[in-house]
Amino acid sequence: MEKSKINFKFREKLNKTLEGKHHNYCYQCGACASICPAARYSEKFNPRNILLMTLTGLEDELIRKDSPIWLCTNCYSCYERCPQDVRPIEIIITLKNIAVEEGKAPDEITRFSEAVEKTGESVVHTTTVDRRREALGLKKLEKPEIDELKKLLETE
Ligand code: SF4
Ligand code: SF4
Repeated sequence: MEKSKINFKFREKLNKTLEGKHHNYCYQCGACASICPAARYSEKFNPRNILLMTLTGLEDELIRKDSPIWLCTNCYSCYERCPQDVRPIEIIITLKNIAVEEGKAPDEITRFSEAVEKTGESVVHTTTVDRRREALGLKKLEKPEIDELKKLLETE
C-alpha cells in the first residue's frame, strides 16, 4: 500500500500567515461541521474535512478554482463553536487569499475582487441605482475614497 506524505511545506506557508497557524490546533472533533449551514446544503463541503486537508497539506486540492473552500458562506458559526480556537472560517479565508494571489480563484471571484480594488464598490454603480434611490427618498451614494481603500488593502 502506498504511503501518503504530509506536505509540511504548505503547512509552513499557512503558519506564516496571520490566522493560518491556528490550523495546527484542530483535533477533528467535527463541532464546526455540525453547525455549518454550507455543509448542510452541500455534500462537497465540510469544514472539518477542509481542516483535515490542511493538516495533511493537500495544497493542490485546496488551492484551485473548483476547491470546496469557495462554498463557505463566511457566516462565522464555526468560529464560535470550535473548542480549540482553530477559527475554521479564518483558515478558509486564508486559503482563499492564497488562491487569489496565485491566480487560482474562480473567474467571478477574481472579477469581483478586481472591481472592489479599482472602484471601491462591489455592485456596479449605475444611473438606474441613483434614480431608484432618489425615488425611495434615499441620499445619493458618495464615491468611495480609493486612496484610503488602497491603504487599507496594503498587506505589507
Ligand atoms: S476546526 Fe475545531 S471544531 Fe472543527 S474539527 Fe477542528 S477542532 Fe473540531
Ligand atoms: S463560516 Fe463557512 S465553514 Fe464556518 S460555519 Fe459558516 S459556512 Fe461553515
